[in-house]
Amino acid sequence: MTQSPHDILRTVFGYHAFRPLQERIVARLAGGGDAFVLMPTGGGKSLCYQIPALLRPGVGIVVSPLISLMKDQVDALRENGVAAAAYHSGLGEREARQTLARLHAGELDLFYVAPERLMSDGFLDRLRELPIALLAIDEAHCVSQWGHDFRPEYVELGRLRRLFPGVPLIALTATADPQTRLDIVDRLGLREAELFVSSFDRPNIRYTVVDKQKPFQQLQTFLNVRPDEAGIVYALSRKRVEEVAAKLQQAGIAAAPYHAGLPDAERSRVQEAFLRDDLRVVVATVAFGMGIDKPNVRFVVHYDLPKNIESYYQETGRAGRDSLPAVALLLFGYGDIAVSRGLIENGSNPDQVRIELHKLNAMVGFAEAVTCRRRVLLGYFGETLAEPCGNCDICLTPPEQFDATEAARKALSCVYRVGQRFGMGHVIDVLRGSHGDRLRQLGHDRLSTYGIGADRSAEEWGSILRQLIHRGYLEQDMANYSVLKLTAAARPLLRGEETLTLARPRVKVAAPKKEPKRRAGGPPTDYDEGLFLALRVLRKRLADEQGVPPFV
Ligand code: ADP
Ligand code: MG
Ligand code: ZN
Repeated sequence: MTQSPHDILRTVFGYHAFRPLQERIVARLAGGGDAFVLMPTGGGKSLCYQIPALLRPGVGIVVSPLISLMKDQVDALRENGVAAAAYHSGLGEREARQTLARLHAGELDLFYVAPERLMSDGFLDRLRELPIALLAIDEAHCVSQWGHDFRPEYVELGRLRRLFPGVPLIALTATADPQTRLDIVDRLGLREAELFVSSFDRPNIRYTVVDKQKPFQQLQTFLNVRPDEAGIVYALSRKRVEEVAAKLQQAGIAAAPYHAGLPDAERSRVQEAFLRDDLRVVVATVAFGMGIDKPNVRFVVHYDLPKNIESYYQETGRAGRDSLPAVALLLFGYGDIAVSRGLIENGSNPDQVRIELHKLNAMVGFAEAVTCRRRVLLGYFGETLAEPCGNCDICLTPPEQFDATEAARKALSCVYRVGQRFGMGHVIDVLRGSHGDRLRQLGHDRLSTYGIGADRSAEEWGSILRQLIHRGYLEQDMANYSVLKLTAAARPLLRGEETLTLARPRVKVAAPKKEPKRRAGGPPTDYDEGLFLALRVLRKRLADEQGVPPFV
């Protein structure tokens, strides 16, 4: 008697119902078709290939980029009584031989393998002699250079579709950015694949952005009000990770650092302690995360500004996988923008630099948003939210509006006085009457607008200028050092024929003690509507090519 997908879901995995899309994906593969699955982290991608692998004759081959990911999955499957094994470089010789023997004897239902092992000639020859239920490529974004986790070993997987013409192939990823999606489909030769995209909304996560002032104190306060909760703190550099972890330990909090510079054994120890709830806080670089399947991560704090929305979304997505309320807190500091910008601009590939700057701008746009954060976030991925979410800092405490007519006029005339040839940082310096050699050399300390904005902090002016850009009074020339220029809409405002209301910056700002140093010609830039548009277009193209609506 053949089992139904439901029977397997219940008897093998112990779940009562499929999550949205899972059932259709299972049916698609069970019927021999290809599928491309975009589902957020924690959405339940694994079952989409595990169940059809059990339904179909032969073994399901699963490609996975990390040994730890394979191990977790195989352990979980074995606990459920499924014959599963992993084949990777971490196995001893004897163990490796035994695993292959079991594969050949047809004893396995699921076989996890690292891409470079799978694609070796010897191994492919072996596989062709075996009945194969399906091929699954997990974390499929690793095949794309557009993604944030490109792995050269994945590129070879593009041959699979042709090598195994009769076997259904499924590619799965949580990467949401449309450019990467297109690239994955293309590189894996998935043109006939049905596309399954689930919503990327994680309604239980409360997105919150605060102005970064004394970040460690802010973190401590945040942790103190939730003494029983565990979570992750992301910082950009290894050094920062070490510092913050050490300070937390001194404060009596069970915390540990995690970054790629630590020995493997130490990293495993930290990861396991965190999973076992022995460790309350992991302070980590982006190296921590893939494969962390801890359901009760209650918060993810970004101590520094992430480089792009994709990373931010993935990292915050590790919170609240159990669907209970969770918090994503971003400490947003003006200086971080310049730091990230500097790092990006050091890159050698100009195209890459351009893409990354665009992505950084979008990230800043999110942090600076004065409308529902979830809208901005999902909008980036091409998804629209009909109503404001009610569960982000903006929705919960809407920013105060203020009459910005006077401030806007000052800002616009300053842009005009510097000849519409300078970026935001310089305009702010002139407004605030900052001292500096460059200013003096340019004679900008003698302009009539010099110092007319000394009553506001640099952050406040940044917020005002960004809003003026969003509202169409200013434009930013991305191709030319992000120089600010007036638009036609600025004239009535400058002439006093119009008034303007803006959102008061979230960023409450004690004027900084020291002026942050800025690079000449390299002011922080704002996010770019053009990028959003480009991503939308790509997304639509993907949908058109697949012949199915983008969200199913
Ligand atoms: P992803 O690979 O998309 O990040 P996983 O496949 O690891 O997600 O699944 C995340 C969690 O959700 C796992 O703990 C899994 O057991 C659980 N899960 C998946 N599908 C279901 C379901 N239909 N019902 C209940 N729990 C599920
Ligand atoms: Mg997964
Ligand atoms: Zn909201």
